[in-house]
Amino acid sequence: CWILGIETSCDETSAAVVEDGHRLLSNVISSQVKVHQRFGGVVPEVASRRHVERITWIIQEALDRARVRQQDLSAVAVTQGPGLVGALLIGVAAAKSLSFSQGIPLVGVHHIAGHIYASHLVKPLSFPLIALVVSGGHTELIHMEAHNRFERLGRTRDDAAGEAFDKVARVLELPYPGGPQIEALARKGRPVIDFPRAWLEPDSLDFSFSGLKSAVINWLHRARQQGRQINRADLAASFQAAVQDVLVEKAIRAARQTGVSNLVLAGGVSANTPLREALTQRCHQEGIDLRIPPLELCTDNAAMIAAAGTYRFKDGIRDNLDMNAEPNLPLAR
Ligand code: ATP
Ligand code: MG
Ligand code: FE
Repeated sequence: CWILGIETSCDETSAAVVEDGHRLLSNVISSQVKVHQRFGGVVPEVASRRHVERITWIIQEALDRARVRQQDLSAVAVTQGPGLVGALLIGVAAAKSLSFSQGIPLVGVHHIAGHIYASHLVKPLSFPLIALVVSGGHTELIHMEAHNRFERLGRTRDDAAGEAFDKVARVLELPYPGGPQIEALARKGRPVIDFPRAWLEPDSLDFSFSGLKSAVINWLHRARQQGRQINRADLAASFQAAVQDVLVEKAIRAARQTGVSNLVLAGGVSANTPLREALTQRCHQEGIDLRIPPLELCTDNAAMIAAAGTYRFKDGIRDNLDMNAEPNLPLAR
């Protein structure tokens, strides 16, 4: 079975062809990072316009590289939400057109389900599993007992992990997106500043990063006021270590509480090398089987959407041509 995936929820225009849910035949990603960089973040109107200009070419490129024709596709899967509504609409409209013109099923996919299925493209997911989803808009712990079954165990109460990286990067006058910039800067520093870790209630699987973000900003203000020398690399390393400690600990806590021994790291922040290393080490100690997506599948891409869409397709889930983009789509449906 050949599924075309389409992803336009934010600032990546992407199309991909996946065979049987796990074999990657093509994954074309056109990033708009350069377009948005001068604004310091994603500008929604600019993003949708760019998606419109690119989407048909990206889809054609994905089909060409996979050597699959439109008429050979089993279905088309598209990110239905969450994301920027104007951006999502472009992918949804493209998917509907293809579904209508070729008479193939349309399958709407949750963007976060996609992030979790990124690992499936390397090695099939084993259930039950816990997914630690860390991205620009989400920080969640998800329990999955089978394909298409998502139960949320915890979520962030304020900022997402990626959002915290982006905001702290902004304060440090680093370009957007901030995550990779902070990681690079942190490599030259040491985590010598003891920033707060929000553990919340003893058993809580929720997260909170706004306090940490404020602590970093306050520390900078005070240092500037007192005319102290600021070691930006140490600051970045200390912030990163604080985020990492909480993410790793809560993921392990979730696995212990549920007795689940498969852990999947997902979302853009999973590209962070120190996080990958720390989690790998902890999981090894705890006897937990850890899946981490390869770097190119961590951030937004259509291959993960095609993979997740394949299992909705296999479960007989279909969407009609009246399907709409849902900026606040819930994961459990
Ligand atoms: P969501 O998936 O929640 O809808 P999104 O699609 O915008 O949000 P992703 O593309 O999954 O987010 O991830 C982008 C986020 O990942 C950004 O916040 C970015 O700073 C962060 N990120 C990317 N690479 C790294 C890295 N190496 N270290 C830390 N953070 C990173
Ligand atoms: Mg992006
Ligand atoms: Fe994403």
